Amino acid sequence: MPQEEPTIVREERYDPHQIEEKWAERWQRDPALYAAEANSTKPKYYVLEMLPYPSGALHMGHVRNYAIGDALARYMWMNGYNVLHPMGWDSFGLPAENAAISNQTPPRQWTLGNIEKMKRQMNRLGFAYDWSREVTTCLPEFYRWNQWFFLRLFERGLAYRKKSKVNWCPKCCTVLANEQVINGRCWRHEDTLVEQRELEQWFLRTTNYADELLRDLDRLPCWPEKVRTMQRNWIGRSEGTLVDFRLDYSGGDVFTVFTTRVDTIYGATSVQLAPEHPVTAELAAADPDLRLKVTQLIAEQSKAKESGDIAAVEKHGVDTGHVAVNPYNGERVPVWVANYILMDYGTGAIMSVPAHDDRDYEFAKKYGIEIRQVIIPNAGEGARATQGQSDKSVRPTQTNSTQADAPELPFTTLDGTLVNSGEFTGLSCEEAIKKMSAYAEQHKFGKATVTFRLKDWGISRQRYWGTPIPMVYCEKDGVVPVPEKDLPVILPENVDITLTGGSPLTRVPEFLNTTCPRCGGPARRETDTMDTFVDSSWYFYRYTDAHNGKAPFDSKIAAYWFPIDQYIGGIEHAILHLIYSRFWTKFMRDIGLVKNDEPVERLFTQGMIIKAAAKMSKSLGNVVSPDEMVERYGGDSTRMYTLFATSPDRELDWQDDGVAGVYRFLAKVHRFVARNAQNNSVETQLAASSERADKTLQPTSLQPEARAIQRKLHQTIKRVTDDFQGRWHFNTCISAVMELVNELYAAEAKGIPVSVLAGVQRDMVLLLAPFAPYLSHELWEMLGEPSNLLKTPWPKYDPELAKEEKIEIPVQVNGKLRSVVVVAPGTPDDQIIQQALADEKVQSYVAGKQIVKKICTGKLVNIVVR
Ligand SMILES: [Zn+2]
Ligand SMILES: [Zn+2]
Repeated sequence: MPQEEPTIVREERYDPHQIEEKWAERWQRDPALYAAEANSTKPKYYVLEMLPYPSGALHMGHVRNYAIGDALARYMWMNGYNVLHPMGWDSFGLPAENAAISNQTPPRQWTLGNIEKMKRQMNRLGFAYDWSREVTTCLPEFYRWNQWFFLRLFERGLAYRKKSKVNWCPKCCTVLANEQVINGRCWRHEDTLVEQRELEQWFLRTTNYADELLRDLDRLPCWPEKVRTMQRNWIGRSEGTLVDFRLDYSGGDVFTVFTTRVDTIYGATSVQLAPEHPVTAELAAADPDLRLKVTQLIAEQSKAKESGDIAAVEKHGVDTGHVAVNPYNGERVPVWVANYILMDYGTGAIMSVPAHDDRDYEFAKKYGIEIRQVIIPNAGEGARATQGQSDKSVRPTQTNSTQADAPELPFTTLDGTLVNSGEFTGLSCEEAIKKMSAYAEQHKFGKATVTFRLKDWGISRQRYWGTPIPMVYCEKDGVVPVPEKDLPVILPENVDITLTGGSPLTRVPEFLNTTCPRCGGPARRETDTMDTFVDSSWYFYRYTDAHNGKAPFDSKIAAYWFPIDQYIGGIEHAILHLIYSRFWTKFMRDIGLVKNDEPVERLFTQGMIIKAAAKMSKSLGNVVSPDEMVERYGGDSTRMYTLFATSPDRELDWQDDGVAGVYRFLAKVHRFVARNAQNNSVETQLAASSERADKTLQPTSLQPEARAIQRKLHQTIKRVTDDFQGRWHFNTCISAVMELVNELYAAEAKGIPVSVLAGVQRDMVLLLAPFAPYLSHELWEMLGEPSNLLKTPWPKYDPELAKEEKIEIPVQVNGKLRSVVVVAPGTPDDQIIQQALADEKVQSYVAGKQIVKKICTGKLVNIVVR
């Protein structure tokens, strides 16, 4: 700033508020500062942090997430990239409705007010976002494209309606979200049990992409293995066989069993149906006693579903008294209904093979159902399985009983051979699965199949604060899509929000009643709104072209920026958000909108922040507010602490003292530069910085102390640079910068030439810039640097200068030269002797002998043996 007086004595006290407010104001006056460039010739880099829900206040988890992304963005700018670093608001959802009820504020007003507050907090912390691309999902400019996508999905048969269960509170007379069901009861009516009701709802056919979503996980090597495993399990592909069993009475129903182990079917001693299986219902209809028991099983199941742990439920069932025919051998096996069989898993019916399945074994032991072995281990396998446990093992009744044939049951591995299995006896398990599946198909009672655990995505919400689904219902034409020209279907305002009596939109006649786009007659609008995961499935494409009024985004622009180079967020989004957005990308590719198959190249999931060994939560009273930390220590200290306390992937145990420590370090940096800034002339800084032009100042021409700090600088540049390449242990980077600062102080005390100190100081400020941007900018200006720090080249290290100096020390044994050891200068004598004794060559001369003398002169080692 030109009007500042040059003669002013520099204030040495570190005042983060004064510095940070000054720079925050300057940065906000310059919207082009962090703007991504159009038509740039630079390489691109798209770094993105997951967008927040605008609750009204940032929490420390946000600060940590954004501090990581911001450090990376700043580093990439300094490395000459065209960086896209945007931010937005995932602003639809239930909390806005709840707030509307408790404070009488309309959801839109509440949401936009919160966005303002949080944006102020972000700006105060100095995050470098390109706000010209801000995306707010609750505004029609954005959500009209959700509707546009919905129409595209509908045209292609990828959006459809089907009946599905919802949580229903009979007192509220409304649907509850899963998070509003607490211990099976309504969150507002603690005395009221939540019921399950069937409603027509909208679904997206994510299962059409199940195979590809699974396969392409192998093409994401830069995603955490943990996330890929979670997605694999969620998609849950299993190869198996469908087999039709017929109830044994004339005209009896056929039901289909799914099994991954058809090779064991000769060992099936019962079949088990889900309590909600249609055949169960049919059998129960004719048998009041059975009906009663089935009702109990259904109740137990829904209870277990609420607790979220169906696997932990105690397994039990009821014999229907009916039998079904195993089509492979004509055997009649009893039909049971069991509480651990789910209708929405596989076919809702299984065959039970106790000898070769853990769960079936447990069930058979409980109810005394026959356990029949049909697989014997291959040589070697059984011996291992029986060792030491033969007393507990259940012996099969009819086998050639050698040790290897009689494993402990259940014997569940595929490494075996079939016995007692008719014409398939003698086949290996794997071979049998193939042949027996083919046999079923040939005889028209089954086939090989692939099933997925992944279900279609139910996107209907009976809520107000979401994207209206652009469909109408006409008595004559049925379900009719809203024509594209009539988009957006605007979410009405001034809606009376109550949480009772169904979706609030059904009580807005101007919204509800419309005309049919096809026949012009009266029609009714869809009153369900979309799941907010629709917004987050594609919002990051909108950032590339945020103001496009004709399309969700321009394909060419998206093609330049995508895939996202680095995405950063919480592990809690490993499944839903990150599967839905992969699905959305594949769909957009199939309609020609994008070229990439996957949205995200590299994914990073940061660790959680805890305090006093617990997750921060209001109820525990251990929440640390970012505002309070900024107030006490400033934005730089707060964000730098979140990077310094531990590596970003680890859980961070918050310590206020730690923030104070970072603050003291920054004050120390400030003090040093304030004192030495005047030494920063162009001539002096070039002498030792990374951009050394003056080759006369080679390491050999420097004093050892000066050489030491130069070496430390280059080692520090190397450490920080290497960590930015992917390891991201910013905690060790920051420690390295701290060590460098200590050495600067030591060098200053030793009277190292100003020419050397100034260069090191300059690069130190650059190294600090991604972590403490405010202070770095302030110091940069203090140094009289004319360039914008954000675009100043990142310092480069010289491997030669980073190298530790080494000296060679000859080692004599009984006066004869036997080896040479290499040590750093200044290594203590006893360490040199130890190293000499550890030397292989030296060892061969002293082995078996008595060492009588060890001498080190600092230039020579002599060992005397006898
Ligand atoms: Zn209720
Ligand atoms: Zn019509």
